[in-house]
This record gives sequence, C-alpha cells and structure tokens, in this order.
Amino acid sequence: MVRPKTEEEIALMRENGILVSKTLAEVGKIVAPGVSTLELNRVAETFIRDHGAIPSFLGYEGFPYALCISVNDVVVHGFPSDYILKEGDIVSVDCGTLYKGYNGDSAYTFPVGEVDAETRKLLDVTKESLYRGIEKAVAGNRTGDIGHAVQTYAESFGFSVVRELEGHGIGKDMHEGPGVPNYGRRGFGARLADGMVICIEPMINAGQRNVYLAKDGWAVRTSDHSRSAHFELTVVVRKGQAELLSTFDFIEKNVEF
Ligand code: MG
Ligand code: MG
Repeated sequence: MVRPKTEEEIALMRENGILVSKTLAEVGKIVAPGVSTLELNRVAETFIRDHGAIPSFLGYEGFPYALCISVNDVVVHGFPSDYILKEGDIVSVDCGTLYKGYNGDSAYTFPVGEVDAETRKLLDVTKESLYRGIEKAVAGNRTGDIGHAVQTYAESFGFSVVRELEGHGIGKDMHEGPGVPNYGRRGFGARLADGMVICIEPMINAGQRNVYLAKDGWAVRTSDHSRSAHFELTVVVRKGQAELLSTFDFIEKNVEF
C-alpha cells in the first residue's frame, strides 16, 4: 500500500501545483507559428527558477532539458530543439518542478494556430478523458477504475490509448507508486486511499496505439505516425471527489497571476 501524504505535505504540493500550472501557462502564451521548441524550454526554465524552484526533468535519468516537448506524432519525452512550430501542429508540453522538496508534474497539448477538426477532436477528447479519470480518483476505488474511465471514453471516439506509459504517484520522488495506467478493468489495480497524490496523464493517439522509441533513446513516437495528445494533472485522492493540485485554468481562463 502506498503511503498517503500528510496534510502538511499536501500543502507544499499545492503550492507546487500552482507553480507548475503557471509555468505551462507562460509557455502557452508564446506557442505560435514561428517559435522554436527550445524557446518554449527557455521560457519555462527561467520562470521556474525565478520562482525559487528547480526544473525536475533536467538531469532526470540524464534527460537534458527542463521540458519534454512532443510535436505531432511524438507522444511524450521529446527534446526541445531548433524545430520551428508551424500552423496546424500540436505541441505537448510536459513540465516538472521541484519545490520545497516535493515534485509537481503536469502536461498540456497546445494547438499551434488553427488545427484541423480531427486534431481539435483529439485534443478535446484526450483532455476530457483525463477529467473522466479524475472523477474516479476517489478513496476506495482502484487504479483500474481510472484507467477504465479514460480508455472507454477515448476509444468511444475511435482513438487509441498508449499502453507502454502510465501515470504515477508523486511526492518527494517524481515517480512513486502506484502506477496509474490509462486502460484497465473496473475494480482491479492498486486501491486508492484518502491523501494519496497521483498524476493522471492519458496519452491518446488518433490512429493505432502502438509506439516506438526514437533513436535518441527518449522520444516515444506513434508507429503509424498519427498524432498523439497528452494531458496531465496532479490530484489528491479524496473521499467523494479528488482535489486538483494542478489546473489548466491559468491556460484556459485568463486567470491573472
Ligand atoms: Mg509529466
Ligand atoms: Mg507524470
């Protein structure tokens, strides 16, 4: 059984959740045709350090950047590069921050300018599948309840769920137990208890679910080169309803900060 966090720990992680959420919003402000993905990385790293935190991905198992930036058919773990974003692309930005000894982790897939209707659908469905999963992140449920909710929603639109990667517990370590797959069976998997902090992060492909590891040893790409979307939030398992530690409100609702 994974140890639930104390309320003191959760209070620190709440601060971090806001920071990681604001970092994604800072990045979102400059996502546009003509911008390099390295520039997104630079903006995020500066913002994180200016707020007294550390970009936790940098150096993690040798990962060389502050952000994972994954364009179009890259599912996750892409390197920022001199690639220039162009109209119609989608770019997944995954951000981790270490603050007061605890980790925050969230991801958002941004459209670059106007995207086609199928791509817009992929983004909307992936994000909604995340919220469907969060609805199941309540004490007494199991991780399979989350995965089942994500999978059934995404697949009902003809999209597919990446199986090789999954969500996770989070705390002093970025990746703690339990694993939180984005597919599964109701009533199976690790039991969720009040105070457990987990990241739910569906990776949904427009085409087939199969993926492969790129030659750089990091980027995960769809085998059929269809597009993939990725949204991630950090939540506290609670009785009745999960508590969100990170949020997309800074990106989507023009919240002042
Ligand atoms: Mg992440
Ligand atoms: Mg994560």
